[in-house]
Amino acid sequence: MKYDYLIVGAGPFGAVFAHEATKRNKKCLVIDKRDHVGGNIYTEQVEGINVHKYGAHIFHTNDKEVWEYVNRFATFNRYTNSPIANYKGEIYNLPFNMNTFYQLWGVTDPAEAAERIESQRLNCEEPKNLEEQALSLVGRDIYEKLIQGYTEKQWGRSCKELPAFIIKRLPVRFTWDNNYFNDQYQGIPVGGYTPIIEKLLEGSEVRLNIDYFEDKENFDHMATKTIYTGMLDEFYDFRFGALEYRTLQFDSEVLDKPNYQGNAVVNYTDQETPFTRIIEHKHFEFGTQPKTVVTREYSKEYEQGDEPYYPVNNQKNNTSYLSYKELADQETNVIFGGRLAEYKYYDMWQIVRNALDTARNELGEV
Ligand code: UDP
Repeated sequence: MKYDYLIVGAGPFGAVFAHEATKRNKKCLVIDKRDHVGGNIYTEQVEGINVHKYGAHIFHTNDKEVWEYVNRFATFNRYTNSPIANYKGEIYNLPFNMNTFYQLWGVTDPAEAAERIESQRLNCEEPKNLEEQALSLVGRDIYEKLIQGYTEKQWGRSCKELPAFIIKRLPVRFTWDNNYFNDQYQGIPVGGYTPIIEKLLEGSEVRLNIDYFEDKENFDHMATKTIYTGMLDEFYDFRFGALEYRTLQFDSEVLDKPNYQGNAVVNYTDQETPFTRIIEHKHFEFGTQPKTVVTREYSKEYEQGDEPYYPVNNQKNNTSYLSYKELADQETNVIFGGRLAEYKYYDMWQIVRNALDTARNELGEV
């Protein structure tokens, strides 16, 4: 065999695994069907601004080892994600905190804000869906203005048909703290994400514009083992039916002004605005360029040929995922990892964590 590992997909899971394997003197061939590395965290310079080509990525984690690991490949800045919500022209801070409660109800006393929420909360021990989860967490006003429209646009489904866990990730705070995440570590890599991936892939052979499935058998024979990071259903030729994903479409423009919206992320939380958010990329790195790049983000159902972004983890899909996983668990020469192969709504830090653990299990400590 020419290689120890064939790695299908040059996104963060594949790149971290490749780096760990190379460090242990293994030979890796990394293939990707796109014309660049990085998967969906790929960034590209436009007008001197690092543009997040496949949607905004903000690195955040509580995992010290993961944080120290990524900091070996880039310097992270002090960016703290504080998105703004625009609901029919009304502006609110996110996540839900005293600023939001003041903007909604004019309250300045945390106890009063808590009472406001309590008076409209749904009393529900175990929320069965996202709507129940939202209503029991923050009550009807916030649900209707800041959650329902955004969520239904993002997922293309009623909040009643979506799993509750999707919004458990949003903090609710009775302090004046607009930090979207509770994690201890957070930042954006200075210079974008692509250089991190390029460094991780040093020492591996990388071939781009290659579709694994066009020549699967041949590729499998080139290496002792395969690390597969693509869609799990596609690996098994959709035999239990296609798993559903959401895809995103981006409408980007360069504007001849230094500042368009004064914040990296503005969410449009009403039902009528067709896009979910506008990203102004320069603000991730406190850019002072004379121009700015803004991207409107539209969410739609994935169809074959699109880029998959978000697994739709409702019951139907999770059940068919388990059928696929049973097959995957029986493979002895293939390891499945990443958002698509595990069909999970992972954050970046979880991908790094899983890739490090997988490499340790597979190859031992360095
Ligand atoms: N969400 C919302 N209103 C917002 C932002 C987020 O209701 O203004 C909900 C929505 O259901 C979304 C989930 O929170 O799917 C997670 O949002 P996040 O911004 O963390 O998602 P990502 O950045 O992964 O797209």
